[in-house]
Amino acid sequence: MSRIYDLHSHSTASDGALAPAQLVQRALAHGVTHLALTDHDTVAGIAEARGAASHQGLVLIPGVEISASWSGRHLHIVGLGVEPDQPALNQALEHIQGLRADRARRMDEGLRRRGIEGVLESARGLAGDAPVTRTHFARVLLQRGYGGSMDRVFRHFLRRGKPGYARVEWPAMADAVDWIRGAGGIAVLAHPFGYGLTRAWLRRICEAFVDAGGQGIEVATGTSSANMVSAGAALARRFGLAASWGSDFHDPALPWIELGRMPPIPEDLQPVWTLLPETA
Ligand code: AMP
Ligand code: MN
Ligand code: MN
Ligand code: MN
Repeated sequence: MSRIYDLHSHSTASDGALAPAQLVQRALAHGVTHLALTDHDTVAGIAEARGAASHQGLVLIPGVEISASWSGRHLHIVGLGVEPDQPALNQALEHIQGLRADRARRMDEGLRRRGIEGVLESARGLAGDAPVTRTHFARVLLQRGYGGSMDRVFRHFLRRGKPGYARVEWPAMADAVDWIRGAGGIAVLAHPFGYGLTRAWLRRICEAFVDAGGQGIEVATGTSSANMVSAGAALARRFGLAASWGSDFHDPALPWIELGRMPPIPEDLQPVWTLLPETA
């Protein structure tokens, strides 16, 4: 049977809408044979996803998406094939969860100053045990009738310069790479065109990422245009990075991003899964 990989997805352990077992079921329904669960700054969903995957005959690749920074820019570093119980990784993720909790309080304060009360309390209710993300804030604002769509809520309330935005000093990119590699994983620069950076910035970041021990770059995600795939492939070739691909699926209510659905990647690239021992 041919393999269908999806190496970037979210569950209710972070800001996804489906519990890990439901996510695995949906991945199978969409033909995915190898799924990486890559929740934001947590590995808490992996045990449930693994259990469901082993029952249902899907290969679950344990992953994480770490919030990081380089030279004042915010980046996401995906770790693939990480050992979820590794102590240093877990300690680092706990620290980042603390940063998230503090940021959530400051976001709530900013919204309160605009007369929008109690958003954090509702966001915590939605998140349950998961770290609070901007997505949870967005869902609450949307439910209360602000914005009209997730995209508009982000644009009007949660982006830099808006009332519900609060800055965080995320850990350095090189530290994120170290934690991932220390846990036996492969570090991948997520969605390179998702940061609004110029090509010159992206080249500098790729160079620093490779220096730090990064090994892969996402060449295709669920929202990549053909131009983005070409530009991502060019970065992969130039910096000797393996090509990753993953939908970045979050929510069945946002149906334009679906598990297993990404544009194809150029055939000359080295797929990142050749670096993953359990799937090579
Ligand atoms: P955070 O990591 O808490 O800053 O939240 C970032 C998350 O917000 C991303 O991982 C996306 O899931 C989500 N997000 C950002 N922009 C949008 C948007 N325009 N529409 C829907 N979700 C978004
Ligand atoms: Mn997200
Ligand atoms: Mn991301
Ligand atoms: Mn993601």
